Amino acid sequence: MLNLNRREFMGSAAVLAGTALATGILSAAETPRLEIATFRCDVTPPMGHPLCGGWITPVVGVDDPLEMIGYVIRGAGAPIVVCTVDWTGVLNEAHIQWRGLLAQAAGTTPERVAIQCVHQHNALFCCPEAERTVQKQGDLPHTFLPDFLKSCQERSLTALNAALKNFRPLTHVAHGQAQVQNVASNRRMFTADGKMAWRGSATKDAALKMMPDGLIDPWLKTIAFYDGATKVAACHYYATHPMSYYGDGRVCSEFVGIARKQFDAAEPGCTHLYFTGCSGNIAAGKYNDGSKEARVQLTGKIHAGIRASMDRLEPAPITSAAWATQEILPPVRNSFMADNLEQQIANKNTPLALRIRPAMMLSWLRRCEQKIPIVLSGLHLNDVSLLHLPAESFLEYQLRAQKFASNRFVACAAYGDGGPWYIPVKEAYPEGGYEVSVAFCEEGMDPILTQGVESLLKAAPA
Ligand SMILES: [Zn+2]
Repeated sequence: MLNLNRREFMGSAAVLAGTALATGILSAAETPRLEIATFRCDVTPPMGHPLCGGWITPVVGVDDPLEMIGYVIRGAGAPIVVCTVDWTGVLNEAHIQWRGLLAQAAGTTPERVAIQCVHQHNALFCCPEAERTVQKQGDLPHTFLPDFLKSCQERSLTALNAALKNFRPLTHVAHGQAQVQNVASNRRMFTADGKMAWRGSATKDAALKMMPDGLIDPWLKTIAFYDGATKVAACHYYATHPMSYYGDGRVCSEFVGIARKQFDAAEPGCTHLYFTGCSGNIAAGKYNDGSKEARVQLTGKIHAGIRASMDRLEPAPITSAAWATQEILPPVRNSFMADNLEQQIANKNTPLALRIRPAMMLSWLRRCEQKIPIVLSGLHLNDVSLLHLPAESFLEYQLRAQKFASNRFVACAAYGDGGPWYIPVKEAYPEGGYEVSVAFCEEGMDPILTQGVESLLKAAPA
């Protein structure tokens, strides 16, 4: 586009020698002339479709449809596509392939496409390679239906192609934040004698409810995009697992999705997107007893947070725009051995989850052996940075991101490429617990991801 000085450079790979590399970073040194378009499509699974990877009740009904919602920005180098999907996770090959398809349609490259999941659980969790492994067993159910994934990808391309004909100027950006009251709580609590007291997404246990929030990020952040005085899109970020209750086969975008839809209905000219932050160790457990009423209450609290955050938006003209990427090669868990995982998958005497999960572990092992990187990315607009991080990253990663750029307004979306499952910080490994038991990387992932995040922020225009 006009008046754009493009500068491309290779960042230095300071992450564990040889395990990470930086890719091209484009910066706009002069006032960019940007344009934006938004798109959305339905991704609600049909009746009978597996949910959450196939180990909970499949779809028996739909309480609330699921969507993929995205925006395309052009004018800061090749086009940028960012989307959020109301699914549990999009893993490995599925994530890479979908980004590739969207990139091709938008006329850009896959590393300039971010797909982040909201991580609802009555939703799809798709790892195509694991699905193929599972189907070879003959006696295991589907983890998801590849044809349905394909139909969603096709719908997303149709929606994106339509959006590409409807660009409008992107002139201003605004940010706001407000504290959400009584939603997020840390899952990894400890009793006075140092034992872990695990607090999941819902609990009726009085002792667990009495414990403090623990480490959380109370801030709901909003970044809004404007064409002149018109708010075109608003992206909301908050760090918590988004489940009130699940496992009943009733598809739902959950309390965060329902709140988002309330704003869509109230502001028809504006597209609202919700991104789940780094929430691997965060859920609503302290404040959620898993009842229907709790879902309504949690929806109200997120709605209030979004409202208060949006009340603080002050649009400013966009003077700089850049997209930064960092490829990382995570270190696979040492305990993952192909032979052993194959035995677990084939063991007909163990529960479903203990056969399907090893199939996902095997896919991750193979991917790491093939050195297929995970792409971290960041969109920098003025003093705002929107980061796109993988899988179930622990909250600490987003707190670190904010510290690395204390002069910037940093919002983190996790649940991008879901391949690694949980990504604890290294201090969590000796503590053990559920998240560590299903972390697909060694603790060396911590410095790699941390330095990757730092490099994205260092790439922000001064
Ligand atoms: Zn999770």
